[in-house]
Amino acid sequence: MEKLLEIKDLKISFKTFFGEVEAVRGVTFDVGKKETVAIVGESGCGKSVTAAGVMQLLPMPPAFYKGGEIIFDGENLLDKSEKEMQGIRGKRIAMIFQDPMTSLNPTMRVGDQIVESLIKHTGISRKEADQKAIEMLELVSVPQPEKRVRQYPHEFSGGMRQRVMIALAMVCDPQLLIADEPTTALDVTVQAQILDLMKDIQQKFGMSIIIITHDLGVVADVADRLVVMYAGQILEQGTTEEIFENPMHPYTRRLLGSVPRLDMSKDKPLNSIDGTPPDLYIPPKGCSFYDRCSDAMKICKDNLPEFIEHTDEHRSRCWLNHPMVIMKKDTKGGQA
Ligand code: SF4
Ligand code: MG
Repeated sequence: MEKLLEIKDLKISFKTFFGEVEAVRGVTFDVGKKETVAIVGESGCGKSVTAAGVMQLLPMPPAFYKGGEIIFDGENLLDKSEKEMQGIRGKRIAMIFQDPMTSLNPTMRVGDQIVESLIKHTGISRKEADQKAIEMLELVSVPQPEKRVRQYPHEFSGGMRQRVMIALAMVCDPQLLIADEPTTALDVTVQAQILDLMKDIQQKFGMSIIIITHDLGVVADVADRLVVMYAGQILEQGTTEEIFENPMHPYTRRLLGSVPRLDMSKDKPLNSIDGTPPDLYIPPKGCSFYDRCSDAMKICKDNLPEFIEHTDEHRSRCWLNHPMVIMKKDTKGGQA
């Protein structure tokens, strides 16, 4: 598959009064043309920082890039000036957020917001832009678009506002749409409708999508591939099918809620994970999931597991899957 985005060993930190927080610690994945990749993990695992890092939307300082490359359509975005990024943001890479009100201006009619963006990015006339704004609302299935363009964001329901935000993001026909928890604030039926809409729009426009979520269930139907993040690192990645059928990392299994444990109380949801992610002021030397992993072995504490390739597309980072450990278990049946 032809690649649109290649993130290579990306490292992003924040300088704080107490020291450096290593929010993204060497993240590598790519996104193919017309492909949907989901970044999944609990909050605070570095998913949003990775996405905002691609867009260069992080406040600098305190944030800074510590290393890596973000190759978009053949060019490293980290070599671009802020002025060049302004030509890319919104136009070639668009972003939508959990709360549409962070992108929509509450004091402006939604039609005017779409028109303003159209004129700024495409240079079409006001008259053409007015017509196009109605078409954009139609495209995202907002009923009565001629009437709705004249309304303000607060006159829309949550789901409808999310549709407007998608319309706004698609104004310039971006090559990549980054959606950060786009359906988290919505109820389940509306969630499904918005995800369907995103799939529809992708069919029509042919853009690639990165969707960020803490809920694996949400992306099962829309994502081609999954990237599972934890404590600023990727722990597993692969096609959605492979990961759902054969999750190789204990953290992914927990996210999927597929491993009921004996010590789990009855009234606790199956996929809740005890404990909290490690402090990234002093990131763990070994496996970042060590403190919460019920399969942890001695080797895990101080030794960072390398990625093991399960198939061409599927890899995970866990000592359990390391040939050395598997061999030891086979011969001794004991702990590594
Ligand atoms: Fe658990 Fe060890 Fe695998 Fe980490 S490397 S997930 S601690 S078994
Ligand atoms: Mg987030």
